[in-house]
Amino acid sequence: MKRIYLDYAATTPTHPEVVQAMLPYFTDSFGNPSSIYSYGQEAKGAIEEARTKVANLIGARKEEIVFTSSGTEAVNFALKGITSANESKGNHIITSSVEHHAVTETCKFLEKRGFSVTYLPVDEYGLVDPGDVKKAITDKTILISVMHANNEIGTIEPIAEIGKIAKETGIYFHSDAVQTVGHIPVNVNELGVDLVSMSAHKLYGPKGVGALYIKKGTKLAPLIHGGEQERRRRASTENVPGIVGFGKAVELVQQEMTGEIERLTSLRNRLIKGLLERIDHTQLNGHPVKRLPNNANITVDFVEGESMCLNLDLEGICVSTGSACSSPSLEPSHVLLAIGLPHEQAHGSLRFTVGKWTTDEDIERVLEVLPRIAAKLRAMSPLLKSTK
Ligand code: PLP
Repeated sequence: MKRIYLDYAATTPTHPEVVQAMLPYFTDSFGNPSSIYSYGQEAKGAIEEARTKVANLIGARKEEIVFTSSGTEAVNFALKGITSANESKGNHIITSSVEHHAVTETCKFLEKRGFSVTYLPVDEYGLVDPGDVKKAITDKTILISVMHANNEIGTIEPIAEIGKIAKETGIYFHSDAVQTVGHIPVNVNELGVDLVSMSAHKLYGPKGVGALYIKKGTKLAPLIHGGEQERRRRASTENVPGIVGFGKAVELVQQEMTGEIERLTSLRNRLIKGLLERIDHTQLNGHPVKRLPNNANITVDFVEGESMCLNLDLEGICVSTGSACSSPSLEPSHVLLAIGLPHEQAHGSLRFTVGKWTTDEDIERVLEVLPRIAAKLRAMSPLLKSTK
């Protein structure tokens, strides 16, 4: 049976050209980038090349990119780094109620350390209102953190508008752009951000590599102390093959972005339209237009997302019931609750994310299989019976 992978937001397969680009840095060019002899300098050169590529992708300067071990680390670095270096100015953070756990759990940690956090509500599409950001600012606010696009429902937030408010009020602004960098245009100057978190494995690069954009002049403390790597901003011997892979992945997505946005949007639209037409009592979650090209999040009433997910898996189709990180827990997604879905509907939601290797035939197969699965599960659903 051909397996169909429709969970590109959880992770992407590493592009074969990326793997090829990485291989020499495990063997022939294995040097420590801090070594002054040729092995070391080759490795260092490769890191700097990757740094230039990542910077170019987001309109930043090379010196403004710090490589990390993941998107999660980049987020932790941004939030803990800003708060610890600017504590004397205030102790208030503004964020949204639909952030990834990397942000929300870091905020909870900071709350225990004496910071106060405002979690802004969102509308039924998952959008933050920039007016709410403005209203929440106090003379103690030192950081605003709002994600660029939501990993579960795909809604793209009004980052440039929030960026203007942050600039006017002189407050640092971080955006978790793990789901957008490499997928849609991200330009740090147009968005008005001071810090941006990114991750390689969401854009056909390897797992375990990320980066934080830090605008020149931003005051933040390191998260990891030790050696003098990354201009003293992040200690530890660099993951050279991973960073090289990140750079190669960035180069490839940049070349293909415009065409991919169009192709994926069309596949996604066909999937959404087909599912809503073929299965009654379904709805699309997230914004109909301000959404990532690759994301379709659908609620199927009267059935459990987990049951649909497992039944789809038996047919070789991989989708998720929420973000990968929350999948093992049976708690409904905080994002779906924040957009106003009741618990039963939040439990009956599926996230499909298409990507580079998704074909028309893959979408056709889902449209053929899921209505059958939904009908079968509904026939034995206590949720449906209780509404009769
Ligand atoms: N932020 C968002 C929006 C994400 O979707 C993810 C991953 O799912 C992360 C942060 C964490 O990135 P990483 O897996 O590289 O730690």
